[in-house]
Amino acid sequence: MPTTVRNPELEELQLNQTPAAEQNGHRHRTKCGSVTLSPPPGADTLAAMTEPTHDSYGRRVRYLRISLTDACNLRCVYCMPEHMQFRPRHELMSDEEIIFLVNVAASLGVDKIRLTGGEPTIRPGVVELVRQISAIPGIRDVAMTTNALLLHDLAQPLADAGLNRVNISIDTIDPERFRRITRWGDIDDVWKGIDASERAGLRPVKLNCVVTRGFNEEDVIDLARLTLEKDWEVRFIEMMPFGEVSDFQLSHVVSFREIRQKVESVFGGLDEASYDFVDPSRPFRIPGAKGTLGFISSVTEPFCQGCGRVRLTADGKLRLCLLRDDEVDLLQPLRGGAGFDKIRALMKEGAFHKPWGHGLASGVFAEDRAMNQIGG
Ligand code: SAM
Ligand code: SF4
Repeated sequence: MPTTVRNPELEELQLNQTPAAEQNGHRHRTKCGSVTLSPPPGADTLAAMTEPTHDSYGRRVRYLRISLTDACNLRCVYCMPEHMQFRPRHELMSDEEIIFLVNVAASLGVDKIRLTGGEPTIRPGVVELVRQISAIPGIRDVAMTTNALLLHDLAQPLADAGLNRVNISIDTIDPERFRRITRWGDIDDVWKGIDASERAGLRPVKLNCVVTRGFNEEDVIDLARLTLEKDWEVRFIEMMPFGEVSDFQLSHVVSFREIRQKVESVFGGLDEASYDFVDPSRPFRIPGAKGTLGFISSVTEPFCQGCGRVRLTADGKLRLCLLRDDEVDLLQPLRGGAGFDKIRALMKEGAFHKPWGHGLASGVFAEDRAMNQIGG
């Protein structure tokens, strides 16, 4: 039977013959050659083998963030240079490889997935991918971080396919400043995306705002004001340094304390909500507001003690800490023929060696990648 690989990012899509040795596997072709993925175990076997995974500090690893592509339809100043070179398509994980790796992760107790990018919504076939990921036994929550430009059309199909929630990036509500930060974005597209997400039931809507000195530090007031009437969570993120834009990032970072002071100077003291040390966002509320404010202070007040996150980069590396370059390559072994158990052992071993936290305070930066290749 011919096998059609669904990912149009791969170059050669039609495979006509399945050799006997590969009949139980899933074979597909990349520029690097023919690849056979061994079938993941069935649902019952997967359920029986599933066990919680902890790192060497005893933190449970249960949250996998997957970068679906490093490419984007914007070029935010704090994320990537304007003339960013993206990876060739054959270096990125195919749909089949992503599904395989999520099955492996699920067998290690991962139950929460976040799809990110670059911009995840520009990946061809993203709706079908969401459908397949959310059907994997053990996966109970599938979320997405997106710039929302395409959500006007995609929010409902994504929700129908099993997406639970979205985090939407919006750094200012001023159209001109939005264009300046994103280099060409139209903020109306974001509002339409937010609206479509709410209608599709992708709630609670969370809005991400990276605060960048000289670009939008005054805009935190307008963004915070949105929570008075809307039950949204507006999250202010300290800008983090990566790769070749780290000089820009370090010189433009605005601290959690400064952002909080700005908001409190207008709205008065914030009520502090209870904090579980698992979500990176520390929750507050303007007294009487319908929504909440969150502060993600990765740089000045890190929250590593509750971190159970690992990441899959678009080129299939298990990244153990957002802000460190420690990675375990899963894609090359997979393409080299490693089966479920081997990849599972690599993932488990990698998760065990998750670093305690980042080294920004001692001058250690992640240099190998920009944010768009990791996904946040
Ligand atoms: N394109 C999608 C978006 O913008 O939401 C998903 C990918 S983006 C890399 C994920 C999140 O990382 C966004 O909220 C973005 O604002 C944030 N981000 C990008 N560069 C950052 C940096 N240097 N420091 C902190 N957050 C950053
Ligand atoms: Fe694209 Fe998101 Fe990076 Fe902005 S933050 S350039 S939208 S990947």
